[in-house]
Amino acid sequence: MRKFKTESKKLLDLMINSIYTNREIFLRELISNASDAVDKLYFRSLTDDSVQINRADLAITVAFDEAARTITVSDNGIGMTKDDLDKNLGTIAHSDSYEFKAANAKNEPGEEKGLDDMTDVDIIGQFGVGFYSAFMVGKKVRVVSRAYGSDEAWAWESDGVEGYAIEAAERAGHGTDVIIYLKDDAGDETYGEYATEYGLTDLIKRYSNYVRYPIQMEVTKSRMKPRPADADDEYMPEFENYTEVETVNSMVPIWKRKGSEVSQEEYNEFYKTDFHDYEDPARTITVHAEGTLNYDALLFVPSHAPFDLYTKEYKKGLALYSSNVLIMDKCEDLVPDYFNFVRGVVDSADLTLNISRETLQHNGQLRAIARRLEKKVKADLAALRDDDREAYDKFFEQFGRTLKFGVYSSYGMAKDILADLLLFYSAKQKKMITLDEYLADAPADQESIFFAAGEGLEHLAKMPIVTTVLAKGYDVLLCTENVDEFCMMALGDYARKDGDEEKSFPLKNVGNEDLGLTTEEEKKEAAEATEENRELFDVMAEALGGRVEKVVVSTRLTDAPVVLTTEGAVSLQMAQMLKNAPGAEDAPKSQVVLEVNPKSPVFDTLRAAHAAGDDAKVRTYTEILFDQALLVEGLPIEDPIAFSQAVTALMK
Ligand code: ADP
Repeated sequence: MRKFKTESKKLLDLMINSIYTNREIFLRELISNASDAVDKLYFRSLTDDSVQINRADLAITVAFDEAARTITVSDNGIGMTKDDLDKNLGTIAHSDSYEFKAANAKNEPGEEKGLDDMTDVDIIGQFGVGFYSAFMVGKKVRVVSRAYGSDEAWAWESDGVEGYAIEAAERAGHGTDVIIYLKDDAGDETYGEYATEYGLTDLIKRYSNYVRYPIQMEVTKSRMKPRPADADDEYMPEFENYTEVETVNSMVPIWKRKGSEVSQEEYNEFYKTDFHDYEDPARTITVHAEGTLNYDALLFVPSHAPFDLYTKEYKKGLALYSSNVLIMDKCEDLVPDYFNFVRGVVDSADLTLNISRETLQHNGQLRAIARRLEKKVKADLAALRDDDREAYDKFFEQFGRTLKFGVYSSYGMAKDILADLLLFYSAKQKKMITLDEYLADAPADQESIFFAAGEGLEHLAKMPIVTTVLAKGYDVLLCTENVDEFCMMALGDYARKDGDEEKSFPLKNVGNEDLGLTTEEEKKEAAEATEENRELFDVMAEALGGRVEKVVVSTRLTDAPVVLTTEGAVSLQMAQMLKNAPGAEDAPKSQVVLEVNPKSPVFDTLRAAHAAGDDAKVRTYTEILFDQALLVEGLPIEDPIAFSQAVTALMK
């Protein structure tokens, strides 16, 4: 017996006994080796006249024996000599491989990262599971191979523990058979299902469906027996099983085909089967890139949000293939969080199979592909917005929250990509509009974009701070979703492109900012009126305790007697939201201002009471006005019983 090298043995040990649960990929790895071996022979035939093969004969065969618990993966590729077997299968991982160096390079100079410090994921990622993954399911593996052009075959056999043996063997033609003797079942760990027709076809279809060569398997079928000549009226048809060799994989991947050759129906079918959706996708995006980056991508925007999209359980990502072989089911790095609803496939021959979670992040090609795909998705959504608004509205209903959350969670970094995709409800136009549409409709002198945040469109539309702005001829965007106000804050402003010129419009919450709608003159008047009523306002502020910062004369009100506004970044709605969030004790509070409408008769009543020395009345009225203002904002009042008692007392 030949012993595995120490390094190899350690690796093998770690891998076989690792917690790595995705055992089923062993078949993908073996089929991919087989496909490589066939490739090698085919390429040799192109340059070497002595190699005479017929491309149509090149194939991979998968066979199984349920009773003996064996699986055999065969190919008629280049094969291996005795030396090759020793060299290729005797050493795990070519320690000169680029990934291995990369792993070491991360350490301090002179301090090598020992194998013992690496996790199983590292190992699988750094070296590729490759051939040795067979030991994740097999207790013994036998490889019988005959190199092309040689007339002798050799067998390599190992239990994956200490070492391996090589002996002379027989094989009819060139190529390789890898025979796995499945491990015994132990408790939850069952291996037997791999050696079944269903188990294998399922794995082939899932992981190797798009391998370029046919993957053939003998499958059992059923057919009706021919009707006997002497059958009478009572004859019941009989069935019999027979076996047939079938090509299990579909070979030509749909994403490699030109968009013009594939019908939307085919794309829809592919989407529904592969991504387990019952509805056709809303958008299908195809990319065929050649040049510095070579890849094909097929992306879908679903018609509806999956039920778990807004939960922690949801996992974004695109399926990643390298030359038709699946590397990863959901490669997260290929889509940004704000396009997490996009499903699809990316296939690039430039990527190596043994790419892992860790190396992906350091993979420049992958990042470049991700950037380009992001642009593609953006462009597609923008086109939908411009060409089919009804469909875009539907899309936004499903995924708008994700886009808005993207603006917020990227602290506005993603705003260039996302801002013009956003829709908000226009109080004036009574429909969802973009920020560009808001500005297109704005009076020439408008310098800002106004929005109001709160619960319920109808309610918001009636709030005094909204109606007064509307009355002046300016539109207000009504934000009713939790994320809206945070999104607006992260956006900060919106740049409208007008030809080459770009003008920036700050986004202003009508409830807590100087909207710039009052003249200097009006401001001055209000300040003076506030000063004149200083004593009255002090009584009012005192009555409300710490609940307001100050009481002032308002410039913004038309009808309502009072309104609550805020100074600083935290609006009333936001403060309310933060109050309900975890860690509420430290949540920032809003600085509330009670604005009094000087044109309201209530103001006269207050002044008269104060002048008559009846500050008790001023205090009661102030309490009522404050609570009313809260109710108008759709916010809870502190003491509803006291409020209703005060109102009742008034009525008496
Ligand atoms: P990798 O495929 O990443 O190089 P593996 O451990 O899977 O690593 O395989 C090691 C080597 O064994 C391959 O590089 C190849 O030279 C050889 N090999 C594996 N399977 C086959 C096969 N079916 N036919 C010919 N050579 C093979």
